[in-house]
Amino acid sequence: MSLSALFIGTYAQVYSYTGILVILIMILVMSVRLFTSRRRKAYLSLTVAVFAFVIQYVLQIALALTPDKPAGWADLFVQTLEVAAFVMINRAIYQLYNSTKSRHHLYFYFTLIVTVVLAAFRINVPRLFAGSPEQIATLEQIGLDLFLLLILFVCYLTIPDRIGQARTYKFGLFVYFIVHLSHLVNLYMMEEPHVFLTLAELYVPLLYYFILFLLLFERIVELMQASYRSSITDGLTGLYNRRFLLGRAAQYIKHGYTVSVLFSDIDNFKKLNDTLGHQAGDEALKEVANIMIEESEDIGIAGRFGGEEMVILVTDSSVDMAKFAEKVRARVESDAGVTVSVGYTKSRKGITAEQLVAQADQAMYAAKTTGKNKVVKYSSNMPAASKHALPAER
Ligand code: GH3
Ligand code: MG
Ligand code: MG
Repeated sequence: MSLSALFIGTYAQVYSYTGILVILIMILVMSVRLFTSRRRKAYLSLTVAVFAFVIQYVLQIALALTPDKPAGWADLFVQTLEVAAFVMINRAIYQLYNSTKSRHHLYFYFTLIVTVVLAAFRINVPRLFAGSPEQIATLEQIGLDLFLLLILFVCYLTIPDRIGQARTYKFGLFVYFIVHLSHLVNLYMMEEPHVFLTLAELYVPLLYYFILFLLLFERIVELMQASYRSSITDGLTGLYNRRFLLGRAAQYIKHGYTVSVLFSDIDNFKKLNDTLGHQAGDEALKEVANIMIEESEDIGIAGRFGGEEMVILVTDSSVDMAKFAEKVRARVESDAGVTVSVGYTKSRKGITAEQLVAQADQAMYAAKTTGKNKVVKYSSNMPAASKHALPAER
């Protein structure tokens, strides 16, 4: 077998298309899995688009392995599928980041209709035009080929601004452009196919589908991370939510570690809201939250428990809690424009996470009733903070 047969002949086509099929099937499995679990339109579009690509390449492999070329129907089908699948995949990528408006459905179906019209044109070329068989064959393909080029440009101009990973997406389109350009030049401008262009036509698509795979993979990771984050954090402040913080505390306690809890409540917060407005209240909350996050960074985690109640779970047992609590209080007073009352406590054998937080809350309540803007350590003879008893899980 000659070298050219190895790299650009029939077998080369089969290797390359098979490689593409492997990537496509991985994407297909991902998208079917996503669609069955989440039922979003984007995943359905993705599944349909990738399925169309799969059929296209299966057909192309079959064609490559058929020694005497069959009728033009199979070629027509492959070329039409190629254009339609490309339209669908770009729409699916758009939908991964956007909800589709009806106007966009319109563009999409219009593009598909033009594709079908051009396919119909292709069927009728032999009847409409006279010429040598080569001329006819060339004329047959040119409508869909140029349309694909147009779609490429339209996608490049309209989609990147509206999606994440715009650079990866643009690079993908560029790669596809190189493939298509090689195809166009080879078919319409060369007497004989040029070897480099043929190589590009054959192998660069592998890169395109790989980029497609990466794009979708990244998007999925992004979505998973976002939904995980929003399930454990509070939207306004970025602090962990109550459930997550209690879970963490319970985990430490269960494994026998000593942990401490600092409970803070902003003083006269209602009044600040009433005089300066809810917006200013939110800003103050965020500032206090940032202080909590910074101060807890190396020694534990900070969470938001109720409206303006924030808690730090201190997991580093070497921290001097009296000093730490005073530092937090003083920083809030100097940096946030509000003050906090702070209570803290340390875990003992047999205590639950909820009880531990309730103790710190009790100590905070003692700080409230004895002047506010101060730190109080929990002691077992404190009155129960019934008014401040923890609100039910929200
Ligand atoms: P104290 O010093 O006794 O803590 O007085 P306070 O006014 O801070 O206490 P109280 O618990 O009565 O009021 C808490 C207020 O916090 C009530 C509500 O208006 C406000 N608040 C709760 N959540 C938010 C929020 O997300 N944003 C804003 N701006 N205000 C909130
Ligand atoms: Mg308060
Ligand atoms: Mg409160």
